[in-house]
Formats: sequence, structure tokens, C-alpha cells
Amino acid sequence: MKVVKTVPELNRLLAPLRADDKSIGLVPTMGSLHEGHLSLVAAARADNDIVVMSVFVNPTQFAPDEDFEAYPRDLEQDIQLAAEAGVDVIFAPLTDEVYPPGFSTFIEVAGAETAGLCAASRPGHFRGVTTVVAILLDLVRPTRAYFGQKDAQQLAVIRRMAIDLALPAEIVGCPIVRDPDGLALSSRNAYLSATERAAALVLYRSLQAAREAIESGQHSRDKIIALVERLIAAEPLAEVQYVEARDAAGLVAPPTLTGETLIAAAARFGTARLIDNIIVEIKET
Ligand code: AMP
Repeated sequence: MKVVKTVPELNRLLAPLRADDKSIGLVPTMGSLHEGHLSLVAAARADNDIVVMSVFVNPTQFAPDEDFEAYPRDLEQDIQLAAEAGVDVIFAPLTDEVYPPGFSTFIEVAGAETAGLCAASRPGHFRGVTTVVAILLDLVRPTRAYFGQKDAQQLAVIRRMAIDLALPAEIVGCPIVRDPDGLALSSRNAYLSATERAAALVLYRSLQAAREAIESGQHSRDKIIALVERLIAAEPLAEVQYVEARDAAGLVAPPTLTGETLIAAAARFGTARLIDNIIVEIKET
């Protein structure tokens, strides 16, 4: 596995592979790798000749009061885990390499995908995400790029951008990897104390309760949201940020839920802001 930090180094490495018509899978990450990230690598490995992983804590997707400074970073461990998982190239650039001096061009998705959910409490977040993903796609020029369903809104936003800008890479979504007790893996789980971690299980449990309610015939968007909000709020260590129920593909919000439906929630447990979601298939009645 090669580790490169600059764009010229990356180009030197990828140019012959492109000339050879090798397929390239890109896995963008902010590092602090866990099994969730490695599942994206496994998917990319299965579909492509070459797997490139970017490790870059992207400053433009953090608001000034967020955890950019505190975000866990351990490149040495990431290199080891990525090598074991079969990554061929790690691209771990410094900020200047991604955002040249004077940088002033941003990409913004302005549809239902960026209305509400995480966009409400993290203004500017998705603008930072789409901008960095567009840059990474342009630098690596992958055949396919892999993103986790864990960040369901991010995936929907990136799919929208890829369609609207006719980006050549195929955008591939991958299922959420969870600990055996249901907690979705996240680099931010490192912020949790043992009691907060136990409390955080309420997220997935509440989403499961929504699934059961839907399967028992409750298709009202408002009622499903209220149910999940009430269940999360019943956990004293949880501070609910949002609960949403949306059409899974375009993130529009119909009053009566139907088809592939995303139920998503965000809550704070101590200093950790965690998100989780499930997709429920609701058949027409
Ligand atoms: P991050 O490093 O948090 O920006 O995540 C990099 C990629 O890994 C994103 O596409 C995430 O959606 C994905 N990811 C993070 N956690 C998980 C998880 N538990 N299961 C699947 N994918 C994940």
C-alpha cells in the first residue's frame, strides 16, 4: 500500500493505472477508521482493480463551534487498518493540497436533500461535504465512490450532486455497520463514556420501534416522528436534535409515508452528537 500526501504524487501513481484502464474505487473518509469504513473498502475491493482511500478531516464541513480540533486523528493506525483491509493507495493530504490558497469555489445542493435533518442544526455542513467530495472525485477520478448509509442524508446529497453535475463516478451506498448491541459504528463514539454509550442504544431501539409501528399499520409521518422523539427523550442522557421520516431517495416529506422510507434521528449524549437511521419499505395499502 502506498501513502501519498500531495496531488502530484497521487497523479504519478494513478496515471499509469488509468492508462491501463484499471477500475478505481474511492473510499472517502475522515480517518479514525472502524469496521464501518472497512466495509466500504471491502465493497470497493470486490468491484474494482484498485482501491484508493482518502483520509482528510475536512475543515469546511465543520462549523466554528463544532469538533474539528477535537476530531479523533490517528494516521498511523489508519494506515495499518487500511493496509490489512486491502487498500492500495491512501491519499492523506494537508489542507492546502485540497484547498489551494485563495480557495473560493463551493458546491451547494439546494433541494429537499439539504432541507432539515442534519442541515438544520449544521448550517453549511453539506456545502462543505459536497465541495470536498467533488474535489476528491476530480483528483482521483474513480470508476466508483463508496459512501455509508450511516450518513443517509450525505449519501442522498452526494447522489443529487452526481446526477446534477453529470459526474462520471458511480455512487455506491453501503449498509450501516453496527456493534452487536445495535449501536451504529462512528468515529464519534470515542467521545462516549460507558454510561453515555449505554444510553446511546436508545437511538437504534427507538428506530426499531418506529419500524414495528409502521409494520403494524401506522403510516402517518407526524405520528412516527412523535413516537421516536418521545422514546429518545425518555432517556435522561439523550438530548434529541431531530427525528425525521422522509422518502429515502429524494428526502421529500409526504404526510403519509409510502415506499422506501428513511427514519432518521440525531441526538447528543454528553459531547457526542450521534446520528442513526433505518430504511423501511412501506407497501401501498
Ligand atoms: P467519516 O470518516 O465519518 O466521514 O465516514 C466516511 C465514510 O464511512 C462515510 O461514507 C460514512 O457514511 C461511512 N461510515 C461511517 N460509519 C459507518 C458505519 N457504521 N457503517 C457504514 N458506513 C459508515
